[in-house]
Amino acid sequence: MDLNLLRGIPKVDVLMEQAVAASDLRALSRAALLAATRRTLETVRSRLLNGELAAVPGREVLFRQIAEQAEADRAYSLRPVINATGVVLHTNLGRAVLGSGVAAHVAEVASSYSTLEYDAAEGGRGSRHVHLEKLLTGLTGCEAAMTVNNNAAAVMLIMAALFNGRELIVSRGELVEIGGACRIPDIMELGGVELRAVGTTNRTRLSDYVKAIAPGKTGGILKIHTSNFRIIGYTEQAGLDELAALAHQHDLPLIFDLGSGTFMDLSPLGIQDEPTVQQVLRAGVDLICFSGDKLLGGTQAGLITGRREIIAKLKSHPLARVLRVDKMTLAALEATLKLYLNPYEAIRQIPTLAMLFADPSELRQKAEDLNRIIAEAAPGLQLEVVPTESQTGGGAAPEKPLPSWAVSVTNGRLSEACLEERLRLGEPTVVVRTGHDRILLDVRTIHRKEFEALAWALKKALAD
Ligand SMILES: *Cc1c(COP(=O)(O)O)cnc(C)c1O
Repeated sequence: MDLNLLRGIPKVDVLMEQAVAASDLRALSRAALLAATRRTLETVRSRLLNGELAAVPGREVLFRQIAEQAEADRAYSLRPVINATGVVLHTNLGRAVLGSGVAAHVAEVASSYSTLEYDAAEGGRGSRHVHLEKLLTGLTGCEAAMTVNNNAAAVMLIMAALFNGRELIVSRGELVEIGGACRIPDIMELGGVELRAVGTTNRTRLSDYVKAIAPGKTGGILKIHTSNFRIIGYTEQAGLDELAALAHQHDLPLIFDLGSGTFMDLSPLGIQDEPTVQQVLRAGVDLICFSGDKLLGGTQAGLITGRREIIAKLKSHPLARVLRVDKMTLAALEATLKLYLNPYEAIRQIPTLAMLFADPSELRQKAEDLNRIIAEAAPGLQLEVVPTESQTGGGAAPEKPLPSWAVSVTNGRLSEACLEERLRLGEPTVVVRTGHDRILLDVRTIHRKEFEALAWALKKALAD
């Protein structure tokens, strides 16, 4: 490359002056204009250096690029995405989606003062725990409940408040990594707990737990739901009820990190190994913690339910203050939990459940409707309605695909990778599945109100 070319790049302040004179950039603040101008010139420089540009673009082109850059700088970083992957609880895409009624309630509580810690009946200070506790005791049969920032935080609080300096017995088959290099044993260690692993990866018997109990040293028994993986074949795990009996015989608590945590029996979906919170409590478990934004379909939180005196210890520990949730979280969870009072309403109005329970024939109709809308908006694409499989996601039921329907999209001119990239970089951001030279739009996770925007995004991807 001819280095003289780089000398042709205008100086930032000079270009800025000229840009201000250009009418449509005058409305920008100085800071925004400066940032956009810098970024534009950096791009020009690197494209000259790698040979993508043969010369410095003219002023009109630069002004347009600065305007586009300023526009992009103004866009939200955290923004809505159309999830066409069919993964219902997509961790990268924000897990559970709130229903419109719940979202409206959050907006209402967030934009005014609230009863967050105010007891209106008494006219004095209240507790932020009361908003969910009555609902949770009613829905699950627990004696008491509390909520912290997420389930990992719940595990840490339980460790620190109940078992600091003591041993917790856990099966070797349950020492899970929950993602993002976050491992339950590490959280236990942070909470000051000694992990006493028993049994083997595939088999842990009641007798393994019995042998590990050391009076004065053992603080309790911990069960961890192996949410995101399954051990199959020659396996054995001690039953919950026998573990509960063993723990209580030694005056120890049995704790269960349930991971996803659901109030709904999911066996109609073929999902057999996600026990409900109610079932686990009935089996005699003393304390359960689970996520608010996995199968429950609420927002990020760690819900803890169980025996009153144990929850009281958790509530009074200093970490409870460190890990406490905001009013928006409480508003979202209270509105979500209220829907569970009527299971039919829950399935209709909690998007996570509505998507999971969507009927395949209904999904096929949805795929045909999307197909028609895309065909009208973006001629030139080869479209086909095809059967596919969705995933629950969020580390729940990993081995159980859900039969679904998708629109398969190909274009003779653009590769599948190119289409995928253009949809991802477009507005709105669309995330799709690819494979076999086509992209797949699984309608399970696409809302009907998003169909037009999705068709428009495809039209723009073709035109670009
Ligand atoms: C997902 C999960 C967690 C972490 O929950 P977050 O709400 O994401 O913090 C902890 N334990 C298990 C078993 C899980 O599946």
